[in-house]
Amino acid sequence: MRHAALNEVRNRSPKVVETPSAKISEYFGTNVFNEDAMRMFLIEDAYYAVRQAILEGTRIDRKLADQVASGMKEWAATKGATHYTHWFQPLTGTSAEKHDAFFEPIHGGRSIERFDGSMLVQQEPDASSFPNGGIRNTFEARGYTAWDPSSPAFIIGRTLCIPTIFISYTGDALDYKMPLLRAIKAVDEAATAVCQYFDKDVTKVTCTLGWEQEYFLIDEALYYARPDIMMAGRALFGHLPAKGQQLEDHYFGSIPDRAQAFMRDFETEALKLGIPVKTRHNEVAPNQFECAPVFEELNLAVDHNMLLMDVMEKVARKHQFRVLFHEKPYAGVNGSGKHNNWSLATNTGKNLLRPAKTPKENMLFLAFFVNTIKAIHSHADVLRASIASANNDHRLGANEAPPAIISVFIGEYLTKLLDGLEKNIKGAMSPESKTELKLNIGRIPSVLLDNTDRNRTSPFAFTGNKFEFRAVGSSANCAAAMTVLNTIVAHQLQAFKKSVDASIAKGVKKDEAVLRVIRDLIMESKAIRFEGNGYGDEWKAEAAKRGLSNIADTPRALDVWSRKETLELFESMGVLSEVELKARHEIELHSYVLKLQIEGRVCGDLAQNHIVPTAIAYQNRLLENVRGLREVFGAEKAKKTAATQIKLIEEMSDRISGIMTLVEQMTEERKKANALKDTRAKAIAYCDEVKPLFDRIRYHSDKLELMVDDELWPLPKMRELMFTR
Ligand code: ADP
Ligand code: MG
Repeated sequence: MRHAALNEVRNRSPKVVETPSAKISEYFGTNVFNEDAMRMFLIEDAYYAVRQAILEGTRIDRKLADQVASGMKEWAATKGATHYTHWFQPLTGTSAEKHDAFFEPIHGGRSIERFDGSMLVQQEPDASSFPNGGIRNTFEARGYTAWDPSSPAFIIGRTLCIPTIFISYTGDALDYKMPLLRAIKAVDEAATAVCQYFDKDVTKVTCTLGWEQEYFLIDEALYYARPDIMMAGRALFGHLPAKGQQLEDHYFGSIPDRAQAFMRDFETEALKLGIPVKTRHNEVAPNQFECAPVFEELNLAVDHNMLLMDVMEKVARKHQFRVLFHEKPYAGVNGSGKHNNWSLATNTGKNLLRPAKTPKENMLFLAFFVNTIKAIHSHADVLRASIASANNDHRLGANEAPPAIISVFIGEYLTKLLDGLEKNIKGAMSPESKTELKLNIGRIPSVLLDNTDRNRTSPFAFTGNKFEFRAVGSSANCAAAMTVLNTIVAHQLQAFKKSVDASIAKGVKKDEAVLRVIRDLIMESKAIRFEGNGYGDEWKAEAAKRGLSNIADTPRALDVWSRKETLELFESMGVLSEVELKARHEIELHSYVLKLQIEGRVCGDLAQNHIVPTAIAYQNRLLENVRGLREVFGAEKAKKTAATQIKLIEEMSDRISGIMTLVEQMTEERKKANALKDTRAKAIAYCDEVKPLFDRIRYHSDKLELMVDDELWPLPKMRELMFTR
């Protein structure tokens, strides 16, 4: 199996990829019902109704919805679409769709193509098997998908896809999108109110997101020869190769031809879908790559990321690849993340996190900069929970990716500035100190972007004109992290405004009031700022001293969902209700258990059916050899001549029985865990009792891999997974 697979890979050559045109602008967004398409296919009223819905979140009335549907259908027909689907993002982590044909038979054996407002606006997918955390019992209320006009419809293959939110009969969110939209609204309101101190023209603030998607590529033949990668997305066995990523020669090296062809191909599809993919390069680990688009409005960026992951998986098959979005497919080399570059932009075209030239504008920058840091400080545990998953546990704190400790990096320049502000603003300000302050604030170089020192070890770093949340996992839906980030920032901005208003009411001038609250926030949030090496053990000790949490595993990280303060936070911001929060907690714990359950089964199967039988077969060969030596040399002399073989046979027996005992133990622990009723207790049992056994089983197996004849070893080895291309 393994050798056949390797031969297959060796005989492959890059696929020839045709792009529709040399100029990207000629096919960018051609599969999207965008501005141009809407102008062409919608009557004026319908067009403006959609525009207003996008900009102001207004409802589209039924008659206009019919007209939008009709225009959409006509446009879709020009693209050859025969089906439509409501596209949504349930809490399983992938996107979901249920296709229906436009075609509808009518009497007399004839048929029509039908798609009206009701089909556009709402659907009732029989989606009863999606996780709902107890909100919805399959036998009672149904779930609905409802059109989200702020994300444009698009075409994949022959299907018109309509982005929707997924809600229960009672209106509770069952997906990632609905809370995200609510958080976007909350941050818009809170941020606009703060902007009003400085600029009356600001009436709307939108969030921007630029994600960077990391992934591994594996050849299809090798993928099929590795049941663990197929089922669990990661290698549960395999000795580390002599050469890993130490030389870092893959990073920014030339992209291998086959991978390059794949990238060109999926990028073309992405561009047609209006996803502005721009950069591509190799990542640190062998066969690891990254793709990043230009940033977009948050809601759209989230959809585009989900869509791109889907497109990549489809296109990969054409190139005999599989894409691994798992956060840690291979132990011992870099894992994959999805950096979330986040900022806030005003309707007047200003990036609120970009330092400006004048003191007045920099007050605005400072307000948002400092409030974001304070938000992270107050709610670090909630942010930590938003990125917790079984997969990401292999990354966070595993001495490589950002640690599980949440901290903020801002660079030397801004650190000095904040420290300076803290000292300067004391009591009532003298005219001189005011001038001094203004000069200081005004001096923030706008070129900061190019010279902020990049601290790659920080989970949350300011990078010149945006914050970069690096701890997000590569397979995650960005919406989870972004919902939390925007909620906590909105919450903090509200508190900020309250303090400033109170101070103004006491007669303090506006600018001074703002600066004083900023100063207070700088002092209060100091503990979360960290400029050093986030991977070191010193940081763990230092963070503990500062009272920062370091929660290494998912079940415990998720505990924060059931805290009273968390409920207060989400409820007051109108993002998640108690029912929704509880449901999410339950779903995430459950999905953690499922993941580990699958890993446990695969681990046991592979150990018993692949590894142990192979070891025994080789051991038998050695035994035969020993018997032969005895025959030739006689028992006495063979003691010496067969000594090495005998030692090997003994060690192999130890390893084999080691594996068998541990697999048995793991099965027992799984049974015990499965018997637990409480989902949290079950998750903890899987985390503490089952999971540690995987590595212990692997340890014996990896030793056997080094002893058994290479010809016999059934699973493609780590070096082959990483370096074959
Ligand atoms: P890297 O972190 O790999 O060095 P860059 O700093 O060039 O890469 O940018 C990474 C990402 O940041 C890109 O996807 C880009 O679109 C995004 N980005 C740039 N400006 C903003 C912004 N104002 N809001 C959100 N994302 C942004
Ligand atoms: Mg980055």
